[in-house]
Amino acid sequence: MTQSINEQIHQLNKEIASTSARLIAVSKTKPNSMIEEAYAGGQREFGENKVQELVEKNDALPNDIIWHMIGHLQRNKVKYIAPFVHLIHGVDTEKLLKEINKEGKKNDRVIDCLLQVHIADENTKFGFSSDELLALLQSESLSSLQNIRIKGLMGMATNTTDQSKVSTEFASLKTLFDEVHNNVKGDNIDFQEISMGMSGDYKLAIAQGSTMIRIGSTIFGARDYTV
Ligand SMILES: *Cc1c(COP(=O)(O)O)cnc(C)c1O
Repeated sequence: MTQSINEQIHQLNKEIASTSARLIAVSKTKPNSMIEEAYAGGQREFGENKVQELVEKNDALPNDIIWHMIGHLQRNKVKYIAPFVHLIHGVDTEKLLKEINKEGKKNDRVIDCLLQVHIADENTKFGFSSDELLALLQSESLSSLQNIRIKGLMGMATNTTDQSKVSTEFASLKTLFDEVHNNVKGDNIDFQEISMGMSGDYKLAIAQGSTMIRIGSTIFGARDYTV
């Protein structure tokens, strides 16, 4: 890597300064020393996608780090992150939402969540369809969940070099966000965030109204899954 972690973060922050987006530094698979380096440079919001790794890093690293759970979350693991997680990005079933609510209650807190919407072609990516999303947001059962708050939507575009396709997918998430924001009311619905954009496509995501870009490899270098 030619540039340091903090140079990359600085550059990204400069790039997004006049936009609606802010930076979530995705530190998954990276050692605590790298997170500490970014922290020393002023970065506070980090994203992880594995529960165990997130718990271990939260235990070891400064208390004022704002942790985002960005990965697929299993219901039986919610309890481990419920005491401290700031925002859960990938909520993709009502059952999971109910489990988060249960653990929020046990911890006497309201846990902020984003609902993941399936905007990509690949059927490997999780998420609600727009119809399922609207049905959930308008359901009676949702309004009874007092220990979660739905802060917005999260989506992942198709992994393709076709930029217009990626843009169209991000635009569809923004359209859905606006529809909910303008039409759906509820005590535990507070639509503010659109989490979209990664290292390869964040510019397109910002152009379509992203409020959170989740950037890993551009900051910390390529991940090595072989070790
Ligand atoms: C790993 C990951 C990212 C970051 O990916 P990069 O391409 O390294 O920026 C963003 N979002 C999610 C959900 C991820 O799992």
